[in-house]
Amino acid sequence: MLKLAGGAASLAALGGLGAGPARAAAPMLGVSRPSIYRFKLGNFEVTNMLDGYVQGNGPHPTFGNNQPAEAVQAYAKAQGLPPTKMENVYVNTLVNTGKELVLFDAGNAKGRLPTAGKLPELIVTAGYKPEQVDIVVITHGHPDHIGGLVDGGKLVYPNARYVISEAEFDYWKKGENIAEARKANREQFMQVVVPLGEKATFLKGEGEVVAGIRAVPVFGHSPGMMAFHIESEGQRLLNWADVANHYVMAIQQPDWHVAFDHDKEAGAATRKRVFDMVSADQTAVVGYHMPFPSVGFVEKAGTSYRWVPASYHFNL
Ligand SMILES: [Zn+2]
Repeated sequence: MLKLAGGAASLAALGGLGAGPARAAAPMLGVSRPSIYRFKLGNFEVTNMLDGYVQGNGPHPTFGNNQPAEAVQAYAKAQGLPPTKMENVYVNTLVNTGKELVLFDAGNAKGRLPTAGKLPELIVTAGYKPEQVDIVVITHGHPDHIGGLVDGGKLVYPNARYVISEAEFDYWKKGENIAEARKANREQFMQVVVPLGEKATFLKGEGEVVAGIRAVPVFGHSPGMMAFHIESEGQRLLNWADVANHYVMAIQQPDWHVAFDHDKEAGAATRKRVFDMVSADQTAVVGYHMPFPSVGFVEKAGTSYRWVPASYHFNL
């Protein structure tokens, strides 16, 4: 300790600290967060963009909805997470296949949250124009995925056609057995998505969106949610949409109920099925609510799983 302190003192002396002219303090600039990440997947270019984030109380009762609050808080703390505060991110993926520009989900409606709805401007910053988007894939009908399809009554992606699962479209359109908490969501779907039906292609099962992009049914979180295999030149990625909405809670405790899930048991079963699939194949994943830049892997850990963020895998 003394030695170190002495070292510091002599360094200060060498540097003439305290003797030079006073410098103006650098101004505080506020937080700067990465919001665009582009990488290569075979011949495709994949761009993840941070439409925004929301911060609030949690993880309980959103995660571990069927567990005592104290148990979830203790688990969060043991994992090094704040026990009663959390953040959730919204991350859109744009794939340039070389032939088509395919956008996955449209982010939040502008104005829904001050910290979200940034996707259209990020698309421009990333080097594209919203008019260039050929296809918008709607993974499911929740507000953070469909709200940004329109702005001020106008289509944000005016030249796009739309792809959505038939089961998801029909569920919201029919409007039967809509939970109280989803009634506003249903209204929004009727206003925003149903009019796009004429420009839409409906997926029934493992349908192809374009060459290299194929749907995988992952029902549970919503009645017809789809994940998407994206593959080029033997490199593969699964865009799992909202299969897991928290990189610790929903992955390490897949059986814990998630308040946002339409069918909580089906949500849990889907999580485990998808985690088994991607961990066995070491398939890379992008997830709408995974920490930015939202690319990673799932590792099996005993009877549980773990999110492993990608490092340089796609930069090589
Ligand atoms: Zn979502």
